Amino acid sequence: MQVPLLDLKRQYASIELDVKEAIDAVLATQYFIMGPNVKELEEKIAAHCNAGYAVACASGSDALLLALWALGVGPGDEVITTPFTFFATAGSISRLGATPVFVDIKPDTYNIDPELIKPAVTERTKAIIPVHLFGQCADADEINAVAEEASIPVIEDAAQAIGSHYKDRRAGSLGTCGCFSFFPTKNLGAYGDGGMVTTNDDGLYDRLSILRLHGSRPKYYHKLVGMNSRLDALQAAVLLVKFPHLERWNEGRRQNAALYNRLLADSPAVTPVEVPLRRHIYNQYTIRVPERDSLREYLKEKGIGTEIYYPVPLHRQECYADLGYAEGSLPVAEKAAREVLALPIFPELTDQEQEYVAECIKTFFSRKG
Ligand SMILES: *Cc1c(COP(=O)(O)O)cnc(C)c1O
Repeated sequence: MQVPLLDLKRQYASIELDVKEAIDAVLATQYFIMGPNVKELEEKIAAHCNAGYAVACASGSDALLLALWALGVGPGDEVITTPFTFFATAGSISRLGATPVFVDIKPDTYNIDPELIKPAVTERTKAIIPVHLFGQCADADEINAVAEEASIPVIEDAAQAIGSHYKDRRAGSLGTCGCFSFFPTKNLGAYGDGGMVTTNDDGLYDRLSILRLHGSRPKYYHKLVGMNSRLDALQAAVLLVKFPHLERWNEGRRQNAALYNRLLADSPAVTPVEVPLRRHIYNQYTIRVPERDSLREYLKEKGIGTEIYYPVPLHRQECYADLGYAEGSLPVAEKAAREVLALPIFPELTDQEQEYVAECIKTFFSRKG
């Protein structure tokens, strides 16, 4: 049996006719950048996460960049974030000439440890970026309490968490603003790049809206030097077809996670921890095992796709060598980077495929004795 890490063809088969119809409609208009589809998507995403506004842009990376930029982050500033995330979280900080300040994560959820944020705050701290890693919200109340005390904004990196809940709120409305990605592998994926920023702040909404259009308002009159970061109408059309399915797909991932949890309960693999009152939406289902590399090799021989998110924590990346974080400086993230392994979790995965994956994992450990 072959079990891929992700098989988007199965999802496409279930929506193919609707997608083609939506794309044809855009082709008929020959209107490709921004426009009514983008506006409708912004309204739907804002309503979905209970935010006042949403601003579409070209990618999740740009969403982070625009959010920091609109909040006035620039050279000499510091932004506190997690080292255990996709590179874009920190890269967006560096691209504005600011410095990422990495603090360690919690060993159970892999999310930023709120206890470590306060000691890292200095007078140069301009923002905190928690990441809702793998689809489970970070500790928003604790993070917001530190941020409020220090009067600094919180930018949620919700790229992996569209539709995840925190108590009675949703990712994207837990901080000052929320950043989403529509990269194809996310729970709501486009057929190319796309991103969005959500916020309840009028002033921030205004700055985000013009920064993505070269700072212009009206057209050809430039208040600010911005950038070109627009969402195109074809991506918005595809996302509008997919959006009504998002809740069901998220629920499918949760059910698959529950089945793995049962199947792996008597194995040495540590399964994901769900914090009460948070709805994890499993963009990734990540187990941890000390023998990670040999397990991965074994599963590959058995035809099972896996991935390591992430093999090198950001404070240990070559490009950040000059920040001076020694090996062992953020030990929880470094240990996680050695032990985590993501298993196939996409909604269309069958029970038989999951049983096969779990069986292979158990066989690996029993052979090891
Ligand atoms: C995917 C992702 C991003 C970046 O999104 P792109 O759309 O690929 O630019 C940022 N942060 C996290 C945590 C992500 O998973």
